[in-house]
Amino acid sequence: MSSKKTIESVYELVLKRNPGETEFHQAVREVLDSLVPVLEENPQYVDGRILERIVEPERVLMFRVPWLDDSGKVQVNRGFRVEFNSAIGPYKGGLRFHPSVYLGIIKFLGFEQVFKNSLTGLMMGGGKGGSDFDPKGKSDNEVMKFCQSFMTELCKHIGPDTDVPAGDIGVGGREIGFMFGQYKRIRNEFTGVLTGKGLNWGGSLVRTEATGYGLVYIVDELLKEKGQSFDGKTVVVSGSGNVAIYATEKVQQLGGKVVAMSDSNGYIYDAQGINLATVKQIKEVERKRIKEYTTIHKSAKYTEGCNGIWNVKCDIALPSATQNELDAAGAKALIKNGCVCVAEGANMPTTPDAAELLIENKVAFLPGKAANAGGVAVSGLEMAQNSQRYAWTFERADAELKNIMVNIYKNISQASEKYGAKGNYIVGANIAGFVKVADSMLNQGLV
Ligand code: NDP
Repeated sequence: MSSKKTIESVYELVLKRNPGETEFHQAVREVLDSLVPVLEENPQYVDGRILERIVEPERVLMFRVPWLDDSGKVQVNRGFRVEFNSAIGPYKGGLRFHPSVYLGIIKFLGFEQVFKNSLTGLMMGGGKGGSDFDPKGKSDNEVMKFCQSFMTELCKHIGPDTDVPAGDIGVGGREIGFMFGQYKRIRNEFTGVLTGKGLNWGGSLVRTEATGYGLVYIVDELLKEKGQSFDGKTVVVSGSGNVAIYATEKVQQLGGKVVAMSDSNGYIYDAQGINLATVKQIKEVERKRIKEYTTIHKSAKYTEGCNGIWNVKCDIALPSATQNELDAAGAKALIKNGCVCVAEGANMPTTPDAAELLIENKVAFLPGKAANAGGVAVSGLEMAQNSQRYAWTFERADAELKNIMVNIYKNISQASEKYGAKGNYIVGANIAGFVKVADSMLNQGLV
């Protein structure tokens, strides 16, 4: 059978076995389509039925999460953990608490995580979990009760050498703390079973900055290869959350000028360069809208609606807010204005047609799987520090992060070239992530 036919038959199998899970189908399709040249050169992957195995999670856990709300009423949510692939390390990936969560979303994220974690070069397999619980509008007491009930079941399946969850949407320091406390209480052990922990009880320095800094480090490496740097470049960063704020901080440290940022209501443009201290005060401390920026910096301009941000002229664009925020119209505006690089800080912020347009027009496009891997990379470093029972300095963790991002760039760049798609980093990231996992699966026999 030809490689294309093998891929089609695997995809048909995924559709049949996972009905209605559209996000999972989409994620599988994107990865499989990149793998044609790899299968042609490596028949052992086809003979070993690696594709059929890699699209099937090793274990899917689904469980009832009952808890009492503040009025004493019983509430019931559904919990998930998909342990997707452990070929290169313990399962690793976040927990998402959001009403939209169902099995298809968790499978899609878990599948992506397998390749992202592989790209970091660390010993981390892929997994993802969560619940349809919505922490928004709940009291601290209700969030604690939910987290304790959720962990009462999850603790039977995870462990520092088995499966190490972290945060994701709706799961921050507060939720990680409640879950860690319950795990410790039931298991009577203090281990690095979760990452994203508080600095006093096993967390890592640089975790807060990791995704944003990592994003800028990988772009910097790409620029270096072209004989350029951030110095003097104009940059647009969408969002004003964790990723956006620390991406902006690092761009400014490297001499670049960030002129626009956004939130879900609109965007600000400051020709002088964004004052990050003001943005941190508004978003991290006061939790207000980005619009407030213009009351302090009178020369800055606020525009209602966030999509228009891509019309701002820039050399580099870093979409770091949410999925599908950069569409074909946005891509056309960036191309017209001479943008040379788009790197995804968020997960899937660029629509497929926008990514295609950017690549066709020779804009260097770094997909999230590679570009935002800094977050999980520092989670991996948190695991290493927990195993050592030792906390590294900020400088050491930051240097390790930088090294990891530089290596990711080299690996995806080499993979794209080796398989005839030089400069297509989507193909490069999928292939480089896949090969390491596939080879490890073959080494370990039929498991
Ligand atoms: P935050 O919740 O801290 O911030 C998200 C930001 O995006 C907020 O400023 C939010 O605005 C804004 N936003 C939401 N929707 C839109 C929109 N339609 N247009 C413009 N802005 C919008 O999240 P993070 O920064 O942590 O995450 C951002 C993305 O990065 C997500 O896709 C996440 O999955 C991904 N990611 C994050 C990692 C991490 O370590 N944090 C690691 C890897 C990926 P508002 O204030 O109005 O809500």
